[in-house]
Amino acid sequence: MFNRVREAWESKKRRLYRGRRLHVRGSDSAIPGWRKSDDGLWYPARPSCAPGACGTPEAAGARGNELRIHTEPQNTDAEAWRHLLDLIDESAADRRKAFRPRESMLALGFWHEIVTLPPTIAKLTAVRELDLYGSHLIAIPPQIGEMSALTTFDPYTSHRLHWYPYEITRCAKLRDSRVSTRFLYGNFKNRLPFPRLPATLPAGSLPPSCSVCRGAFESRGPIQRWISLRVATDVLPLLVHACSEACVNALPAPADGYVDHPHQGGPDLAQPPAYG
Ligand SMILES: [Zn+2]
Repeated sequence: MFNRVREAWESKKRRLYRGRRLHVRGSDSAIPGWRKSDDGLWYPARPSCAPGACGTPEAAGARGNELRIHTEPQNTDAEAWRHLLDLIDESAADRRKAFRPRESMLALGFWHEIVTLPPTIAKLTAVRELDLYGSHLIAIPPQIGEMSALTTFDPYTSHRLHWYPYEITRCAKLRDSRVSTRFLYGNFKNRLPFPRLPATLPAGSLPPSCSVCRGAFESRGPIQRWISLRVATDVLPLLVHACSEACVNALPAPADGYVDHPHQGGPDLAQPPAYG
């Protein structure tokens, strides 16, 4: 029964995504779940981002697939962005329990123009369900951590979301999630390599204060680390911005079956074998 449902779903997804163009450059060594196209770029087996957005062709060898974090800019002058800001303001004012921008944005032809969310999502303190199904997002801002009522987080088929901000762990009520696992850095299915840190991030991804203690950053700036933690029903690769080594050391133990310490990614990072 379960398999039949899954097959139907997979088949539906193949129809929905047929013909879309994909991303990720790398070396010649294989990344399971990804494929190298005639143009020399690596693409996920299932569609995703703009070509070349994710990787650089440097680095060879067995694990030599250097990926780069998406940094495509959000056009904040676009009508699409203003509409999204309005939707957030309305939802905050009405204390809505669910935030589902997709339908309205799709109807207006705006959905594909949205690659980041504004920091004003911090105002969505009544929202229990955040539905970002099928988005073109490349990053979730750290302000998601202020969405204190959040119980359900659904970015499913947002194939350019390869990582999440550590601040999502502040959503203490978050219990349910649906994430496209194969597109996560370090995921158990294909162990997609983590980009090397420190890295440039898309605008809006830097938290105002330490991800761990909320203290101010020192003059040298934040310390970036990756850590894979269970969040709701998924293990997510989280990007930490710590004020100090003490805060890095204060991070919880990573999920079993993932890199067992906070790390800086890069092509030489050893990960446990893939499975599933
Ligand atoms: Zn700190």
